[in-house]
Amino acid sequence: MFVARLLYPVTVLGPGKRVAIWFAGCPRRCPGCSNPELWHQSERYRTTPETVAMMVAKIAAEHKIDGFTMTGGDPMMQHDDLMRLIALLSPYSRDILVYTGYRYEELSDLTGITALIDGEYREEENRFTPLIGSDNQRLFLFDEAYRVRYRRYPKSLAGAPSPIQNFTSSDGHISVGIHRPRFLRQRLKS
Ligand code: SF4
Repeated sequence: MFVARLLYPVTVLGPGKRVAIWFAGCPRRCPGCSNPELWHQSERYRTTPETVAMMVAKIAAEHKIDGFTMTGGDPMMQHDDLMRLIALLSPYSRDILVYTGYRYEELSDLTGITALIDGEYREEENRFTPLIGSDNQRLFLFDEAYRVRYRRYPKSLAGAPSPIQNFTSSDGHISVGIHRPRFLRQRLKS
C-alpha cells in the first residue's frame, strides 16, 4: 500500500484527538485539491498495513486515540489494504472516518467504517463547512453509537481558534483541515 503521512493529534478532521492517515494515489485531479502532491503513488510512500498499525501502536502506548481519519489521495483506491488496516486498528478505536472521491453508490464492502464522506471535491461548492470539502459531498454514518458525537462535532469546531492545524513532518509544513476555496493557489503564491 501507499501511505504518505500519519499525524496525531488531529482535531479538525473528526471528533476528538485522532490519528489521520493520508493515502497516496488519486486519479481524479479535482481543481483546487489541497493535496495534489498525493495524487501520485511515489515509491517512497510504499508500506504495509502492518507497518502503519505498528506506528499507531507506538502512539497508542502514550496517548489516547479517539478515532482515525483516512484521507489522501483516495483511500478507496487501495480498498483491500484499507480494509486490512481498519481491521488492525480496531483495538484502538472503532471510530473510523474515511474520505473518498467515489460516490457511496459506487462502493461495496465498507466493513469497519464508521463514517464516510463521499464525492469528488468541487471548489465552487466549498462553503468552508466542518468536515465537508464541498456541498456535493455527503456524510454517511453507519454506526448509531457515534451519531451524537458527529452531530456535536461541528459546534465544537465553531469554538476552536481555527479549523486548520499546522504540523511539521518529514514532508515539511503540513496544513490540515477543510481549507477555504483557493487555498492551494494562495499557498503557492506565498
Ligand atoms: S478526490 Fe480528493 S484527493 Fe483526489 S483529487 Fe479530488 S480532492 Fe484531491
